[in-house]
Amino acid sequence: PLAAAVAEQQPVPPVILLLDTAIPRHSWCIPFSVDGFPVPSIRWLFNGTALTEGPYIHTLIMEYEHNSTVLHGCLQLNRPTHVNNGNYTLVVHNALGSASRSVQVRFMDNPFSFSPEEDLVGPRPEPCPRCHQVSVAVALAVFACLSLSVLLILLNKCGRRSKFGINRECPQPGSGWGLWSPSSPPRSRPSRGALMVGVPPGVHHVQRRDIVLKWELGEGAFGKVFLAECYNLLPEQEKMLVAVKALKEATESARSDFQREAELLTVLQHEHIVKFYGVCTEGEPLIMVFEYMKHGDLNRFLRCHGPDAKILEQGTGQPRGPLALGHMLHIATQIASGMVYLASLHFVHRDLATRNCLVGHELVVKIGDFGMSRDIYSTDYYRVSCHAQTMLPIRWMPPESILYRKFTTESDIWSFGVVLWEIFTYGKQPWYQLSNSEAIECITQGRELERPRTCPSEVYAIMQSCWQREPQQRQPIKEIHSRLQALVKTPPVYLDILG
Ligand code: AMP
Repeated sequence: PLAAAVAEQQPVPPVILLLDTAIPRHSWCIPFSVDGFPVPSIRWLFNGTALTEGPYIHTLIMEYEHNSTVLHGCLQLNRPTHVNNGNYTLVVHNALGSASRSVQVRFMDNPFSFSPEEDLVGPRPEPCPRCHQVSVAVALAVFACLSLSVLLILLNKCGRRSKFGINRECPQPGSGWGLWSPSSPPRSRPSRGALMVGVPPGVHHVQRRDIVLKWELGEGAFGKVFLAECYNLLPEQEKMLVAVKALKEATESARSDFQREAELLTVLQHEHIVKFYGVCTEGEPLIMVFEYMKHGDLNRFLRCHGPDAKILEQGTGQPRGPLALGHMLHIATQIASGMVYLASLHFVHRDLATRNCLVGHELVVKIGDFGMSRDIYSTDYYRVSCHAQTMLPIRWMPPESILYRKFTTESDIWSFGVVLWEIFTYGKQPWYQLSNSEAIECITQGRELERPRTCPSEVYAIMQSCWQREPQQRQPIKEIHSRLQALVKTPPVYLDILG
């Protein structure tokens, strides 16, 4: 159509007919319409400086108007963040002249309270020399070992809700609900830079200017999670990808819990526990820095790799098939390994579920989140009546936890059995066919989840050994781990009797 129009077209100086604020599509689009002949060149300025186009930001011509030289397009932005907020100027030019027009665009609020200018102040600190880091690491390790038992008692046994679990009992109102209570009143914002939560000894501090956000990964009860680039974190890498969790609210009790959590996370180090790199406590929000697990949470991953998932593998164009038995056993063994570690520290997780595990490169699975995913998975939690804030993952809980709020290493084993069930059902919700109160009734009456269709009897036997009513009768997690390891080596042949 353009060719036809062009044939009769008189030269037209360029004119911008429309430039509008960004609209969210699957990418963001700053729409524009331009007329002109010869077809004008198009370029953009961002805050007055030439914008370099690339895979994440580029001009897309959507259509040429029939029988005319008017063209419609978008400046497409793939997952912009607050750093992309600003003034976009469209500049069009042909042999007859030029035109320009600007639009102010705001994609999202700055999740950090400091301004981008502040972000750029000061040189990046030099990475610590390796020997210094090693000696610090040794000192930290000694400190961590000494403080571990105290921490575990404080954080895990006192019944406060922490990211690692939930209260054993409903707390008294005003007793400091712990970390991320949605009902606690927001703290008034202190003046910039005035607030500095003391970094607990042993916890690594990350400078805010070393964190460059890329885009949002998800949201939990804790707050938003972002993918970010982090400078100077490891001596061998100038920058690396990390997941950054920004604390939604910062009440006094949330702050002190934040410190305790950070101490504990620093101590927990295992190949199947997500790596915690440190905190950033300059100003707000308070931030925790974790290793980035590129496939996100295990529940979503299982659902995306189930028999119904026909989504194409990114880039390859190949459909990704459902997970095979070997993959499922591999996933389960890794979680069991992390749980053996936690049990060896007498650490009770209280919220083990696939939503709280993360999947990284080459099917590496780690126990990642410790109860912060309550927003997106809110239907997995049940609000008990005594206090409105008490959210319990009842579908993963054994009878003694439901009835008496008793959480132990053995109740974690029960939850591990449910995690196995989730893995072999490609991420179904346990008792999905039942309401919360019906599920409670079934569990407390001793009914068991059924054997998933793709689950060999050897694996179902492991689940059942986790679901013994008597906590002491449940198989220790160490033995479960060994059984799973043996199955990984010689996977059982199984018949899918239902097809
Ligand atoms: P959370 O607040 O930990 O529940 O996180 C919310 C969501 O962010 C999760 O469901 C994940 O999809 C994502 N997420 C959390 N931590 C990480 C991480 N370390 N790496 C990648 N994605 C993460």
